[in-house]
Amino acid sequence: MYYIHLFNLLLDDPKYENHGLSNIIPIIMIWMCFGLAAACLVFKKQEGDNEQDDIFEEPPRRLSEADEKWYRKVSFSCCGSSPKVRSARSSSAALVDMIQWDRPSEEFCNRARSMSSLPEDKDSFDRIFRNNQKWIESKLIDDPNYFRRLSEGQQPQYMLIGCSDSRVSAQEIMGFKCGELFVHRNIANMVVNGDINLLSVLNYAVEHLKVRDIIVMGHYHCGGIKAACKPKDHGLLEHWLRNIRDVVRHNMTELEAIQDDEQRHRRLVELNVQEQCINLFANPIVQRSQARTDLPRIHGFVYDLENGRLQELEIDFSEKLKPLQAVYSLYEDNSGGTVLQRTNSKWIPNM
Ligand SMILES: [Zn+2]
Repeated sequence: MYYIHLFNLLLDDPKYENHGLSNIIPIIMIWMCFGLAAACLVFKKQEGDNEQDDIFEEPPRRLSEADEKWYRKVSFSCCGSSPKVRSARSSSAALVDMIQWDRPSEEFCNRARSMSSLPEDKDSFDRIFRNNQKWIESKLIDDPNYFRRLSEGQQPQYMLIGCSDSRVSAQEIMGFKCGELFVHRNIANMVVNGDINLLSVLNYAVEHLKVRDIIVMGHYHCGGIKAACKPKDHGLLEHWLRNIRDVVRHNMTELEAIQDDEQRHRRLVELNVQEQCINLFANPIVQRSQARTDLPRIHGFVYDLENGRLQELEIDFSEKLKPLQAVYSLYEDNSGGTVLQRTNSKWIPNM
C-alpha cells in the first residue's frame, strides 16, 4: 500500500495532493529499510569474495619453503581484524600493502618489497630455467658434443609404459640417460586396445626404433588403481578406469580371497601389470614384429613408492597365454606353432 502512496506521490497524483507529512514519514522509513537490506547484501557478497581470495588459507605456490614460513608468520601477525588485510590478494604488491598498513618490522617490509618486484609465479619458473642452465653446463663439462650427438637421433633399447604419477619418474628410478628409454605414460600404466596415443607410440617404438624390450611398470599406492576400486562415478575419468575395473572382474576370485585392503591393492597393481602385458602380447604390432624377429620381449615391473625398490614380476607368460592362443594368435612361426607359444619375456639386458 505504501508503494502505491509513494508512486502516486511521485507521479503527482491529485488524489494524494492533500496528504500531510505524516504520510510521507512511513514511506521514507520503508525506503531506508530497503537501502539497509541492500547494503547488507553487498557487504556479505564482499565478505564472500574476500574469503575466496583469502591469502592465508593457501599461500602462493611461488613461495619457497622458507618464504612460506615467513609468509604465514606475517599472516598470523596481522590478519583477521582488518578488512584491508582480509581483502588482500595473494600478490606480492598486496602483501606489501598489508604489511605497511599494519606496520610490521622493517625486515618484513624489505622482504615483501623484494618479492613484489617479481611477477606472479616468476620464481617457480625461474627455478626451472636456472636448473636447466645448470644441467646444460654439467652435460657439456662431461661431453662437449653431448647435445650434438643427441640431436642426430635416438636408438633406445627399451620402451616403458608407466603411470603418469609424478612420484614415478622411470628414467630416474632406473638410472637411464637421455636417449635410452622411449616412454609412454598414462593413468595406471594401461595398454588399452584402441587408444590411438598408445598405439602410435608402440608402433613407432617397435616398427621404427626397433626397441628390444617393452616394460610395463606399475606402482603400489597408485591413485588410478585405488579409484577404480571405489563404487563412485569419477566423471570423464570413469571411462578410463573402466579398463581397470575389467581387470578386477577378471581376477575377482583371487582378489576377494585377500582380506587385508592394502594387500588386495598391491595384488591388484600386480595383476593390472600382468593384464597390460597380456594386452601387449595380443597386440598385432607386437605379434607382427615377434613373428619376424622374436622381439620385442615384454616385461612386467612393479615399483614400490615406500622404499624405492623396483622388481620384475615373476609371471609365466607362456602359461598365461596358453588358453588365450585360440583367441589372440595372429601369426604362425616357422615351426608351425604360434608366435604366442614361444613368448619370451626373460630379462636379457645386454642382448
Ligand atoms: Zn599410478
